[in-house]
Amino acid sequence: MTAFDELMAFQRQTEALSQIAGRLGWDQETMMPRGAASQRAEETAALESILHARRCDPRIGAWLAEVDPEGLDAAGRANLRLIRRAHDRAQLVPERLAAALAHTASLSQGIWAEARRTEDFDAFAPTLSEMLALKREEAAALADGGDPYDALLDDFEPGATGAGLAALFGALRPRLVALADAVLGAARQPAPLTGHFDEAVQLQLSRELAECFGYDFTRGRLDRAVHPFSSGSGDDVRITTRSDPAEPFNCIYSTIHETGHAAYEQGIDPAHALTPAGQGVSLGVHESQSRIYENQLGRSRAFTGYLFGRMQALFGDAGAPDADAFHAAVNRVTPGFIRTESDEVHYNLHILLRFDLERALIAGDLAARDLPEAWNTRFEQDFGARPPRPSQGCLQDVHWSIGLFGYFPTYTLGNVYAGCLYRAMQDGVPDMDARLAAGDTGPATSWLRARLQRHGGIRPPRETVAHACGFAPDEGPLLDYLEYKFRSLYGL
Ligand code: ZN
Repeated sequence: MTAFDELMAFQRQTEALSQIAGRLGWDQETMMPRGAASQRAEETAALESILHARRCDPRIGAWLAEVDPEGLDAAGRANLRLIRRAHDRAQLVPERLAAALAHTASLSQGIWAEARRTEDFDAFAPTLSEMLALKREEAAALADGGDPYDALLDDFEPGATGAGLAALFGALRPRLVALADAVLGAARQPAPLTGHFDEAVQLQLSRELAECFGYDFTRGRLDRAVHPFSSGSGDDVRITTRSDPAEPFNCIYSTIHETGHAAYEQGIDPAHALTPAGQGVSLGVHESQSRIYENQLGRSRAFTGYLFGRMQALFGDAGAPDADAFHAAVNRVTPGFIRTESDEVHYNLHILLRFDLERALIAGDLAARDLPEAWNTRFEQDFGARPPRPSQGCLQDVHWSIGLFGYFPTYTLGNVYAGCLYRAMQDGVPDMDARLAAGDTGPATSWLRARLQRHGGIRPPRETVAHACGFAPDEGPLLDYLEYKFRSLYGL
């Protein structure tokens, strides 16, 4: 065996163990008995410590030193690059700091949840402050002299920088604020859906829609969870959804969103299975797949026409008088404080706010205790109102409590990438709308599979999108799409 073969055999076992850890997480959110929580914490911690030791294993360094990249194909070179990167990063964080971060994160989530429930930011502030101190220490260690925020971002979106994202988001913000103002001030305001929608039928429709968007149920399954998610890679990629009898779009569009994530993992060339290149390349690129399935395709006039018919057939009444009113209800814009309930026009403004605040927190320019005031002031600038309670402001998301700094911007980056992919797809798939109107997503999803999903992590994230689109991604296509769609819908 060459050094490369030995390295890849070792890595393959690490990837397999990591898939098992992910499946324990899936089980915890779907099937696990309530009384198993503390035993599960121990099981997960045991597996994590094995994974950590494997990632830091000194043999990896020796194999990496011995391999000659010139003798490898593109996939081999990509795997070598990804293994080296993970190994270098694992070694930069001292064991003591990694343990302190894991410990604080597990306690902090409960304290955050309780503070959110009791609307008491002060009860969470000391814990957030402690988490922030640890993350700043980790960022400095990972940055190794470079920019600390960029070092954290690198975990989720390799190659992206805070300065690059700030420039991109700076170009988005004024046009998004102007569009939101225009839409909310329009004389024409669409009506919401009305009626009662049986939850078992919503689940049945969700299964049908997942299949319609190309989800392979022989290599996956759909279950209920409090927060919808997708987990796993290769031949075992599972998705979850939730339902509400008065609001079927939550179930339907959560399912289509998670199907987009899952289709990416299921669509990667099986030759890369259980290797670092055999997974979605970054959170931003992942989110581009979920968003384009959910929004550009799933909320299009063409596809909602088909969905209107299916809902009439399954529920007897689709909750709107005709397909145009149904399309308007699907895309209805409402001002609100909560990110996860936001429409396409406001969503990125929620993210831009979080990005600027977390950069200031990591830079040391904003203290944890001053977060509510900074949040509310910024929210008022972009949304025209101040959140009345912390649960509707800076306590609404779990991310910061568990140490996820650098994660939020990948949501908007995903939307930007989805905008670019959709523009390229409109040129590449000429009969797309006619096919979507008939409930056939095949031409669109096959285009994405061939151009992007198949390749997994062979190229770095931005290059993955540029390769698929045939042009370098920027914010233009997303803004053009949003302005055209919502100005038409609101008669502007
Ligand atoms: Zn997502």
